[in-house]
Amino acid sequence: MRPYILAETNWNNVKNAKYELAILPWGATEAHNFHLPYATDNFEADLLAAESAKIAWDKGTKVIVLPTIPFGVNTGQTDIYLNINMNPSTQFAVLNDVIEVLNRQGIYKLLIFNSHGGNDFKTALRELGAKYPKMFLGVSNWYQSIDRTKYFDDPGDHADEMETSLMLYLKPDLVLPKEKWGEGKEKKRKIKAFSEGWLWTERKWSDITEDTGVGNPALSTKEKGEKFFHAVTKKFGDLFYDLGKADIKDMYE
Ligand SMILES: [Zn+2]
Repeated sequence: MRPYILAETNWNNVKNAKYELAILPWGATEAHNFHLPYATDNFEADLLAAESAKIAWDKGTKVIVLPTIPFGVNTGQTDIYLNINMNPSTQFAVLNDVIEVLNRQGIYKLLIFNSHGGNDFKTALRELGAKYPKMFLGVSNWYQSIDRTKYFDDPGDHADEMETSLMLYLKPDLVLPKEKWGEGKEKKRKIKAFSEGWLWTERKWSDITEDTGVGNPALSTKEKGEKFFHAVTKKFGDLFYDLGKADIKDMYE
């Protein structure tokens, strides 16, 4: 029983505790190339957040990790069988309810630990920040916390070398053998402004990839996954510690 994981701890421990930081891991339920499980983003969120919280807890941070929300925004994948879309407006409602509880009970810091590229919480947090002015509301995408080119030879975007390596380390029993891996070939857009980053529209997933992957997993290894796991959790362990210590009325130099 880990005291910083709400799903595992109990009323006996919680009733007199005083937490300073809540972590809300948020994933998705979606196809990950042929070979990775639908809950890949949720396993990553669970295991990375838990290890990061352990590092911060051991340094004295009163952090509590809430259960991972298993559904993400998959509006670009409506035709992919059993990708379960949770709309942004539903995410807003879920967040509002969670924040309302924390705000009422005096846990004034919340970090969303985001594990899925389609989830975009910034606009929701702007609106909820104005509604709950006592709260510190933050979001971090763990997959952008570390320069993945330092850990992987051919990193991509989805079910790629990074995710496959991580899953080979974290959940090897749920990764199909290498001969089943798709190439994760991605079709690029014709209009240049997209690749230059100043034009955005949602990608229709089934138009850009045949196996649902984006990024070739071929060079994935368990060892790469293990190294990356420890780099990410070390970084978030430090962040949770810093956020736990931070005075939210005095966040600027
Ligand atoms: Zn993923």
